[in-house]
Amino acid sequence: MTSLRVVLGDQLSLDLSALEAIGAGDIVLMAEVLGECTYVRHHAKKLVLVLSAMRHFAEALRHGGMTVDYIRLDDPANTQSLSGEVARARQLHRPDKVIATEPGEWRVLEEMRGWEGVEIREDGRFLCGIRQFRSWAGGGHGQRMEFFYRKMRRRHAILMEDDAPVGGRWNFDLENRKRLPAAARVPKPPAFPPDTVTREVMSLVAERFPDHFGSVEGFDMPVTQAQAETCFEAFLRERLPLFGDWQDAMRIGEPLIYHAGIAATLNLGLLDPLRLCRAAEAAYRSGAVPLNAAEGFIRQILGWREFVRGIYWMHMPRYATLNALEARRKLPAFFWSGETRMRCLREAITDTRRHAYAHHIQRLMITGNFALLAGIDPDEVDAWYMVVYADAYQWVELPNTRGMALFADGGIIGSKPYAASGAYINRMSDYCRHCTYDVRESLGADACPFNALYWNFMDRHRERLSRNPRMAMPLRNLARMDPKRLAAIRARADEVLAESE
Ligand code: FAD
Ligand code: SF4
Repeated sequence: MTSLRVVLGDQLSLDLSALEAIGAGDIVLMAEVLGECTYVRHHAKKLVLVLSAMRHFAEALRHGGMTVDYIRLDDPANTQSLSGEVARARQLHRPDKVIATEPGEWRVLEEMRGWEGVEIREDGRFLCGIRQFRSWAGGGHGQRMEFFYRKMRRRHAILMEDDAPVGGRWNFDLENRKRLPAAARVPKPPAFPPDTVTREVMSLVAERFPDHFGSVEGFDMPVTQAQAETCFEAFLRERLPLFGDWQDAMRIGEPLIYHAGIAATLNLGLLDPLRLCRAAEAAYRSGAVPLNAAEGFIRQILGWREFVRGIYWMHMPRYATLNALEARRKLPAFFWSGETRMRCLREAITDTRRHAYAHHIQRLMITGNFALLAGIDPDEVDAWYMVVYADAYQWVELPNTRGMALFADGGIIGSKPYAASGAYINRMSDYCRHCTYDVRESLGADACPFNALYWNFMDRHRERLSRNPRMAMPLRNLARMDPKRLAAIRARADEVLAESE
């Protein structure tokens, strides 16, 4: 009995369920297909990362004694679709069955279900299975991340003393919102000059996908498990100790600050999420890292990452159509070019274009916040986020964009919209000091556009938001606003929106 083991581009883990109990006569199929490279115009660096990591992983499997049928993008026989390549491999190898691991995207699962005689195994690389999540979510917890996270801490015995959280609290988020002092030094993460395999992929991507976002120039990302581990170890040593306090801070020219910069390799399968959490806990227990930093990092992986995946699979395909705030505006062209006077947006977009990366607060409180306040159509915003980041896969991108950033899911992910005026951006960054707009002003041609957009958003959604107790304070301030000033703010918001078209 022989089997064909299918490994997708974001399943580059030696302990992948599709590879379990692989026998001597079994074949591993890995295929680079145009369909996956172009279903959105992925950032050029993301394509280099995925294709180079796939090629390196295939070598590692061969080195481990497995037989790998690896189909390159430029192979003349390539049908350029996953289904086409599985069908072709069936013809060629005549396996008794096809074994795959559940994919990260709904559209691929639909496609996979159409493969003749396929066995789709659970993806054991996540710390909460899809069925497990469903049964937790059905248990009347209001489906909030915080309760899910506590359950996960207990289940995996992370940062626990018996049944209580270490330090007496589950969550140290309130201590993680400091402004970065001007003198603070930000260490550089390790960089990996492209080897022969990566250089070949860079040429392929530059030639085949010239109209994609970003460029292959300067590619220095980790493409093997060992390189990804090196990056994580550097983070543990140099940045995790400071991650907590300045998790929300932003600085011109420093997209990473003290963040891990691991999402792209983690989502590919080159890192193991449980090992990362255990390593952060060990660093805390050894005294190398304060509790608010270790807990903050672990919450992102054990909590948010698993939670958004659970929500995605629970609510798809409907989730991708939700538009609770009925946002219809088109995405401004500057989201692609970065050409805007708004310094915060210019920095976030330029960083993204250059590195296929921006940290969470840039994604949520700069680009996401602008899209929320301006009422940009969630379909357009989703499409942008799927294109621009090296770590973008729909299971994690969609709930973050449509749910967390845009509140288009009406509160499935978050309990209130993350709407903020320029004051928040000024508190957490040095952007406003270097902006031609005045963050203290709401009216006039030089007033910070976020201020008028913020009050205009509250005004537009006043009725819906009044049902949410967490919005009581801004709505009270709105109610106290002089009607003439509110009318002027509406006019200024219209002006800003017209300029953004
Ligand atoms: P760190 O800040 O150092 O956090 C460590 C790890 O925790 C991350 O690598 C990531 O795996 C996990 N994590 C942190 N926050 C989240 C979160 N909200 N959801 C899921 N995992 C989280 N993350 C993606 O992996 N892919 C995406 O396509 C993606 N799109 C996003 C879109 C929007 C609008 C927003 C607001 C967030 C998005 N995120 C996405 C979540 C988060 O911003 C990134 O995971 C993070 O910025 C990656 O950088 P890092 O590795 O330095 O993370
Ligand atoms: Fe952004 Fe307004 Fe600050 Fe300029 S002043 S950087 S537009 S928040």
